[in-house]
Amino acid sequence: MAKVSINLATGSIQKEDIIVGIDLGTTNSLVAFINPDKNPQVINDLGRGVLVPSVVHFGPTGDVLVGNEAKDYLITDPQNTVFSVKRLLGRSYHDIENYKDFFSYKVIDDDTESLVKIKVGDKFYTPIELSALILKELKARAEHAIKTPVNRAVITVPAYFNDSQRQATRDAGKLAGLDVLRIVNEPTAASLAYGIGLDPEETKTIAVYDLGGGTFDVSILQIQNGIFEVLATNGDTFLGGDDFDRIIVDYWIEKNNLNKAEIIANNELAQQLRLKAEEAKKAFAHQSLFNEKIGEIWCTLDRNTFEQLIMPKVQQTITSCQNALKDAKLTIQEIDEVVMVGGSTRTALVKKMVAEFFGRPVHDELNPDEVVALGAAIQADILAGNRKDILLLDVTPLSLGIETMGGLMDVIIPRNSKVPTKGGRQYTTSIDGQVNMKIAVYQGERDLIKENRKLAEFNLKGIPSMPAGFPKVDINFLLNADGILTIQAIELRSGVKQEVEVKPTYGITDEQVEQMLMDSITHAKDDVSQRMLIEARTEGEQMIYTVERFLQKNGSYVSADETEQTNKHLASLKDAIATGDKDLILKNIDEINEYTRPFAERLMDQAISTAMRGKSIE
Ligand code: ADP
Ligand code: MG
Repeated sequence: MAKVSINLATGSIQKEDIIVGIDLGTTNSLVAFINPDKNPQVINDLGRGVLVPSVVHFGPTGDVLVGNEAKDYLITDPQNTVFSVKRLLGRSYHDIENYKDFFSYKVIDDDTESLVKIKVGDKFYTPIELSALILKELKARAEHAIKTPVNRAVITVPAYFNDSQRQATRDAGKLAGLDVLRIVNEPTAASLAYGIGLDPEETKTIAVYDLGGGTFDVSILQIQNGIFEVLATNGDTFLGGDDFDRIIVDYWIEKNNLNKAEIIANNELAQQLRLKAEEAKKAFAHQSLFNEKIGEIWCTLDRNTFEQLIMPKVQQTITSCQNALKDAKLTIQEIDEVVMVGGSTRTALVKKMVAEFFGRPVHDELNPDEVVALGAAIQADILAGNRKDILLLDVTPLSLGIETMGGLMDVIIPRNSKVPTKGGRQYTTSIDGQVNMKIAVYQGERDLIKENRKLAEFNLKGIPSMPAGFPKVDINFLLNADGILTIQAIELRSGVKQEVEVKPTYGITDEQVEQMLMDSITHAKDDVSQRMLIEARTEGEQMIYTVERFLQKNGSYVSADETEQTNKHLASLKDAIATGDKDLILKNIDEINEYTRPFAERLMDQAISTAMRGKSIE
């Protein structure tokens, strides 16, 4: 059933619909594909460059810019320009509150464990939507450059990304109209780009050192039978090339006897200096002295001084390498290869110190800022079945998950996971004194469970009566090599437990699976927007429940006027929920949050703030 078409760009015949590999980076994103010569190739559409800065700008008329054009607005319009959104993907406000000042745009402080939102102008965006805008741009560039529809992709994430961050990345792909075949670890992709791990006979232990714009990580991978296992990761999510730029700027400020506070206050000059510093840093690849001026300010620096200045930062990354080895219980001699990833590994001192530490030459033959995307393209090619030499391991054809509030599907084992596999997540209750929890297990790719296939349903009974949000229910899925799925639910505070077994492939044909996959692609956009509306509505209803209960129980802590105001807010939220306008619901939730925040503080009631947290099933 594969359709054949002629690629207008290359003149060759190829199957329609190419699968691409995408590196969705904190600083830069890019897309790669396997060209008709069967080589991985990065896409450079219209000569605009391979790297697309991961920056999104919202214009006054609702126009959206992504990439270099958006980056210019970081200086002139920072409130409406979103950068580093990857740091927020799949995170809650609690996860990021320690570094909230890092963002120049507004991250909503709802003081909860639910996923963060960003406010730009009057609209609320989730990091998933913002990442989807970047992915859409990459998809469009790829389609334009290779004159072929792009509907399927492999997207990479750091090895340390947790389940929620991976799921958010998948959702972003879906929202961008991409069928995400697999989420792959960045170090795994980088190693594939170097051909490491392609031979199923080979057993190797490698270190992947990734120094990007604002983040650093090192991963130790063990490769066996074509399977990559992460033995250890280490790093610093606030260390990268940006630090080198800052160090240079500080040096120039000192050398020119300038007042740092004044420079920072002059945003435009500060940004000019930062850009000049980045230019100097890059120039050291082919010259040893940088000597320019911004107005009356001398921007002079030689390579030796630069290296002395950044030495402590690079030393920090070496310490991380040491720690990663220790965690993996390995010695330097046991590392077979070292792979360099990230634009900042172009700095000679970085390469030198890493090679010295590992006592061997490092892999730097490929462009370090392109390797991850190139490897993702190779992984995509393998999944497409285009590499007959590589055995495709047994994978789950459809995602497995459970029903959560509002009839949404919460995926626990994503499709295309290698079997055997396991996954799990923690849930809580939404109502005070809830003693039963219904657990409904589904299979499929749609966001609403009613569109998926039900596999099992059972009741976890005997949860001790507690306030909403207190019980901790772990749900674990275990899919064994015979395709049997064991679902276990356990309430951790009481130990109440229940287990069922099903065989997901029983009673479903290959054609039905294919149809379900097709439907999920055609409905992807509607599905995600429906999900977002349902999530907003559920959050709103949860908020009404919590605030009303608060007023009931603790009315004496709140003045009559405050009660009246709060009720007005609640009424307005109820209206918004009735209209089904997602942004309006979120706006009202945000307002209630702001308005009622002092009440909870006044009361210092742990129960209330705890009850506001956590994801509940029903
Ligand atoms: P990320 O993975 O964080 O999205 P990249 O891998 O694209 O980012 O790395 C971006 C960083 O690489 C920036 O700090 C940039 O200044 C730096 N960089 C790019 N080219 C060079 C170079 N020639 N020399 C030193 N640093 C470079
Ligand atoms: Mg990167």
